Amino acid sequence: MKKLVLLGPPGSGKGTQAEILSLKENFVHFSTGDLLRNEIANRTEFGKQIKDFLEKGLLVPDEMITDFIIEYIRKNDLYNKNVVFDGFPRRNFQAKRLDDELNSHGISIDKALLIDIDEKTIIERLSSRLICSSCNKIFPGDYEEELCDICHGKLIKRTDDNIDVIKKRIDVYKNETSELLDYYLKKGILVKIDGKKNTQQVFEDIKRMVL
Ligand code: AMP
Repeated sequence: MKKLVLLGPPGSGKGTQAEILSLKENFVHFSTGDLLRNEIANRTEFGKQIKDFLEKGLLVPDEMITDFIIEYIRKNDLYNKNVVFDGFPRRNFQAKRLDDELNSHGISIDKALLIDIDEKTIIERLSSRLICSSCNKIFPGDYEEELCDICHGKLIKRTDDNIDVIKKRIDVYKNETSELLDYYLKKGILVKIDGKKNTQQVFEDIKRMVL
C-alpha cells in the first residue's frame, strides 16, 4: 500500500490531483484543509481554536495540528490503505512526526511529489476558483455551471481565496513549507512534476513517476 505526500504552493493543483488519485487509483484523499474547514463549520472546540489561523492564511501551530492529524490517522486506521497526503505535512516538525507514526507501524512515505508552478499562475487560479460547498470538489474559474457536477452542491468561493490572504499563503509556503523539499530530498524520495501542464497531463506524469 502506497503513501504519497503532495507538496507545492497553494493553487498548484494538489487537491485536484489527490481527488483523481482517489477516484481512479483507490487512494484515500487525506485533505488537511477540508478536515480543518469541517471542524470550523461544525463549531467543534478544535474548530474554534484554529479558525483565526485559516482566515489569516497562517499555519496552525505544529503541536496542535500534528496531534489532531495523528489522532485522525489512528482513528481511521490509514496504515493499510493507499493514502495521498494533501496539505500535511507543511513543516519539518510535522514531517518527522508523520514519519515516526508510520515507522512505528513498519511503513513509510514512498514518494513526496512536488507540483512545481509559478506565482503568477497560482494567483490567477486561486482568485478565480470555486469549491463545492457540499463535497469540496474544486472547480476552475472558467467552469460554466452553477452547481457541482458530482453532488449538485452549490459552488462557493473559499473565504481564504481573496488576494490578501492568497499572498499571505504564498509567503507562508515560501518561508515555512519549502523546508520540506530539502527534508524529502535528503531521504531520496522527492519527485518534481511540472504543474503548469493541464490536469490530465499532470496526472499522467504522476502515474508514470510514482505509481
Ligand atoms: P489548504 O486547504 O491545504 O490550502 O489549507 C488551508 C489552511 O489550513 C492553511 O492556509 C492553513 O491555515 C491550514 N493548514 C492546512 N494544513 C496545515 C498544516 N499541515 N499545518 C498548519 N496549518 C495547516
